[in-house]
Amino acid sequence: MPRDLRFLDEVKMCPHCNQELSCCEAPPIHIGDGLGWGSEVLFICLNDGCPVFLNGWKKIEEQYGHHSSYRYMELPDSREKNYMMVGNADAFKACVINKEELRAQNEQYQKQKQAKEALKTCVAEKNIEPVLFLLLDEGAGKRAREEAAGYIAAINNLDCIDPLRNHKYRDPALKHAVDAGIRLLLEKNFKKECPHCLEIIKAQAKKCMHCKEDLV
Ligand SMILES: [Zn+2]
Ligand SMILES: [Zn+2]
Repeated sequence: MPRDLRFLDEVKMCPHCNQELSCCEAPPIHIGDGLGWGSEVLFICLNDGCPVFLNGWKKIEEQYGHHSSYRYMELPDSREKNYMMVGNADAFKACVINKEELRAQNEQYQKQKQAKEALKTCVAEKNIEPVLFLLLDEGAGKRAREEAAGYIAAINNLDCIDPLRNHKYRDPALKHAVDAGIRLLLEKNFKKECPHCLEIIKAQAKKCMHCKEDLV
């Protein structure tokens, strides 16, 4: 993910055809001189009807004698006009950035960051929210999730058991840590889960008050 996401709010128009420029991932190397553009994204006019692209073929054929054309391009946060050589109409079309998706990814990333920060005080504040958020988000970092699992018993909130039990953990080690946390939490509260209906009941119960099954 590009580090600087200010470009998500930029709307640029092609001065030649008046179509909106597409936000594309920059290739790692600026083909031709071996230098990067100094930007992770490029705004490119990908309109095949743009006069720059339409007339470029003839221009390059005459000037350089090879089959290429130009696309109009601007860098983020700059009005400088650039013209990039492309060998075919499809160049850069596969690199168009899905802004909505990136925005959503970034939002999730920011939430993960906040939850990680909140872990530092969650036990003192008896705040189960960041622990639940991280454990239920398969995209969150492994270390933060392991840390969160370690706080399940200390926060001592039985309401977290249902959502934690209902989640599918891709990482078996994390599932194990969550199970261990829940076991400790139940013990601390003199509770257990009924092996038949999974409701939480008193540890010393001989019969489940929910499903009425006998417990040995
Ligand atoms: Zn254009
Ligand atoms: Zn039961």
